[in-house]
This record gives sequence, structure tokens and C-alpha cells, in this order.
Amino acid sequence: MNLNGALGRILVLRSLAGRGLAATAAGMRRSALLMACLVAGCGESRAPVAPPSAPSAPAVAPVPTSWAIRGQVLASPAGPPIEGASLTFGEASPIATDVAGGFTIETTDASTRPLTISAPGYLTRETTLTGGEARSGVLFDLIGAEPGFPRTQYLHLVRNAYESPGRHEPTRRWTTNPNVYISTKWRDSAQMVTPESIEFFISEIKRIVPQWTAGTLQAGTIETGYGARPRAKGWITVEFGRSGNWSLLGDDPGQVQFGSEGTCMSLAIAHEFGHALGYWHSSVKPSIMGGGPGSCTRYDLTPNEALIAKVLYSRAPGNLEPDTDGPPPPPAVYTTMQGAAASSRSDRGVRCEALLPR
Ligand SMILES: [Zn+2]
Repeated sequence: MNLNGALGRILVLRSLAGRGLAATAAGMRRSALLMACLVAGCGESRAPVAPPSAPSAPAVAPVPTSWAIRGQVLASPAGPPIEGASLTFGEASPIATDVAGGFTIETTDASTRPLTISAPGYLTRETTLTGGEARSGVLFDLIGAEPGFPRTQYLHLVRNAYESPGRHEPTRRWTTNPNVYISTKWRDSAQMVTPESIEFFISEIKRIVPQWTAGTLQAGTIETGYGARPRAKGWITVEFGRSGNWSLLGDDPGQVQFGSEGTCMSLAIAHEFGHALGYWHSSVKPSIMGGGPGSCTRYDLTPNEALIAKVLYSRAPGNLEPDTDGPPPPPAVYTTMQGAAASSRSDRGVRCEALLPR
């Protein structure tokens, strides 16, 4: 196949609630007295009337002044607990995890403050933590090194460290189920893509989206139609074009082009949807993002790619190296196959021709 392509979170007011109830009770007593007056005809009252009792003071719950957040630090993505990891929350002194990786952070207000977590042999994680509410079971994972975690391949896939080692990209990924529109018309010849091909592509897209998103997302609505449709937020547009396989990387809206059809395109579908869901190329072979050789086999992520997917899809988009939560990332910068800046959508994307079988 021709695989050329152009690059690319209550404060309970008990005292107020108590006063409200007391006011209601007093109102009911006045209503009962008025009803008694109406029934008895009520002239001047000669019978002694007991003075109304003073309402008792409502109970006031003590206002909490600190909230404990309890959790664990684990090796990425769901590995063993890390003993002795250091956590620094805001301006507080660092604390260390116990033998079970456990920690307790006391927060004194509901502000969001920086949280830095470090441990020997792991990438330091910089994130944030919001106080003001006691909770438990909070998990943080730290990215380790080989052989426990495929850090080099991770840097390839989420930072583009293979093809662009001097420029580490922020993470880009989807946060909602991607809907998919498939154009059944070849761009070049206006011929129809065969129904068997379309059926195969749909089944493979449904199979691979949960793998690349570590089970957090699945393919949403899948629609087909003869001809292109304007790209729309929440949708990945799939087209067929003889210029080869390429994809925008982690973008919403997304776009993917396939250079071939048929039922032997499992690797290409997994690879291009890998790009569309936020993954760059890797030199690690065999793998989905490292490329072929392709066959008519149905492809799954390698075990290491599955580990990497769990980490990428547990971090917010815009995570920076080494493991720092940042603002949402800007759109990816795409270049053409010749390295020139992309001038149109049709020549933006991640080129794949060297990595997939022709
Ligand atoms: Zn590629």
C-alpha cells in the first residue's frame, strides 16, 4: 500500500437551620393560640396565661478548621506502593509515605495549592491538591524507569522524543468519547470504498479506541457518508486518499486519512488512531506506533504500549516533562514531509510512510 502522508470540586449552616426550625415552632405556637382564641370567642382573657417559654438556643456545630486527605503513592501506572516518597503541599514541610505508600495531608482551607511528589528512581510529579474537604483513597502514581516502566518508549509516544528529541511536547489527548465520521468516497477517484472495508474499519476503530485510552473512552457515534464533511468538535473525520496514511495528533476535531482499504488494515487503523488519540512514533519494534511489518492479523497494543496508555490517559492534557500538570496544550505544530511548515489541512499530520508497510 502507498503510505505516504504529510506531517503533524459544605459548609452545613446548622445554626441557621436550627434558627429556622425554632422560628417555625414559635409560629406554630402562635397559630395554636390564635385558633384557641377563635374557638373560645376571645374577649379579655381572665384566665392566667402562662408566659411563653423562651426558645432554647439552637445547637451550633463546631466549625472544622482542618481536613485530612489520605491516600497512597504508587509506581506507575498501578504498581507497588512507594515507601519513603516525599510530598510537599504548598508551603508545608515535606512529609514521607509509610511502608504502604500511605500519606495524610492536613489542609486548612479550600484552596488549591501545588503538590510535589518525589522518590528516588522515579520522575518527580508536580500537580495540585485542593483542600477543604476530608477524603481518603487519593492515589498518585510516579513514573519509574526500565525495566518496571518503559520510560524511553513513553517519552517517544507522549513527548515525540524519538522524532524530535530536542523538543519535548506537552501531552495531547481526548477527554470525551470521539465520534467518528467516515467518508466512503476516495478523494482521488470519487470511487466508493467497499462496504466490506467500511465494516472492517468500523469494527477495528471500536476495538482500538478503548485500548489507546486505557478503557477510559470508547468510540462514540460512528457515521458514514459519501464525501467529505466539515470537521466538527468531538469528531474524528476519516477519509481515504491515495497520498497515504496520516493523522492529526491528539486534536479535537481530529482527522485521519488512509491510503488503502481492505480487511488487512488492522495495523494501519491502530497506528493512525494512535496518532489521533495523542501518540507519536517510536523506534521500538514491533509495536503499533513503531510500525510493521503489517499483515492481515488483527493488532492489539503491546503490553508496554498498554502501560503507557494508562499513564497518558490518567494525566490531564498539557502534562509537561518530566511529569508536570500544566495548562491545556496549544495545537500541535505539523510539518510537511519535506520539513516545511504545513500550509493547509491536507498536508498537516504525522507522516507514516517509513513506519508502515506499503
Ligand atoms: Zn504514523
